Amino acid sequence: MIKVENLKKYFPVKRTVGEVLLRVPQRFVKAVDGVSFSISKGETFGLVGESGSGKTTTGRLILRLIEPTSGKIFFEDTDITKLSKEELRKFRKNMQIIFQDPMAALNPYMKVGDAIKHGLEIHNIGGSNQERKMLVMKMLERVNLSPPEDFYYRYPHELSGGQRQRIVIARALILRPKFVVADEAIAMLDVSVRSQLLKLLIDLKNEFNLTFLFITHDLATTKYICNKIGVMYLGKIVEIGDFKEIYTEPLHPYTKALISAVPEPDPKRKKKKIIPEGEVPNPINPPKGCKFHPRCPYAMDICKETEPSLKKVKNHIVACHLY
Ligand code: SF4
Repeated sequence: MIKVENLKKYFPVKRTVGEVLLRVPQRFVKAVDGVSFSISKGETFGLVGESGSGKTTTGRLILRLIEPTSGKIFFEDTDITKLSKEELRKFRKNMQIIFQDPMAALNPYMKVGDAIKHGLEIHNIGGSNQERKMLVMKMLERVNLSPPEDFYYRYPHELSGGQRQRIVIARALILRPKFVVADEAIAMLDVSVRSQLLKLLIDLKNEFNLTFLFITHDLATTKYICNKIGVMYLGKIVEIGDFKEIYTEPLHPYTKALISAVPEPDPKRKKKKIIPEGEVPNPINPPKGCKFHPRCPYAMDICKETEPSLKKVKNHIVACHLY
C-alpha cells in the first residue's frame, strides 16, 4: 500500500549572531536521509528510535504534511510527491494522522463534535448536517465516549487526556481512511489509559481494515500491535524485519540496545544492558562512517570511515559492518 523510496528531508540551519544572519556556507540537518521501506495492506509497520532519529519527520513526509527534499512516496500506485495541492487535498481522506498531543491537535474554541464533523464537511461526506451529526454520534460511541450527546457539545479542555485522544482518533477514522499514521499516539497518556487506547487502536484497525504506520520510541508497545519493525538512527533506517524476528534475534547493535532497554516483567530475569548510556550525536555534525560508532561496543576501524549500506542478512535488512 505504501512504498517509500530514498526519501530525504534536509532542514537548512540558520546561523545567526543576535539578529544578524551570518554569511557562511549553508549547513543542513539531515533529518531523514535516504529512507526506503514498504508497508503492505493491513500491516502495522512500527517505526522506532530515540527522539531525533527522524521517525516523526518520516511520518509527516509520507502524508506530505511537509515537503520532502527528494525521494518518492507511493500510495497504492500513485506517487503522491507529484500531486498538486488540490489533488492532494482530495487524496488526504485516504491518509490520516493521530498526533501525539491531543490538546495541540484540537481547536480549543471548537466543540469536539463540530471538530469531528468538520472533516466530513471538507470532504463532502454524509449529506445533510443532521446526517453528519448522526455519523459523529456513532463514531463517538465507537471510540467509547458514551453517551455521545454528553461529549459532542464539550470543548477539549473539559475532557481528560485519554478522552481527547479518543476524539482525535474519531476525527481521523470518521473519514474512513485506508492508511493511518499514529505518531506516538499513546505516549503522552497515563500508563493506565495507554493500554485501553492501544486496545482501541487494535480493535479499530481490524474493524476498519486499516494499514498503520505506528511511530514510537517505546519498543515495548510495538509487540502488541506491529507486524513489522523499522529501526531508525540519526535519519537512517538501520534495520527492518518481521516483528518477531527483530524482537527475538536483533542483528544491529542499536536494535539490540533498544531491546535490552525494554523493561523485563519478571524481576528474577535480569537483562544485560548491551550499550552504555550515551548521547545521540549532533545531527548538524554527525560522525563519519557509521553514525552509531561512537556508542557502539562492536565498532571496528572500518566503522569510523565507511558508512554501512543496507543488506539482507537472514530475513532482516540491516546496515552494519558486522554482517
Ligand atoms: Fe557498530 Fe560498526 Fe555495526 Fe556501526 S557498523 S553498528 S559501529 S559494528
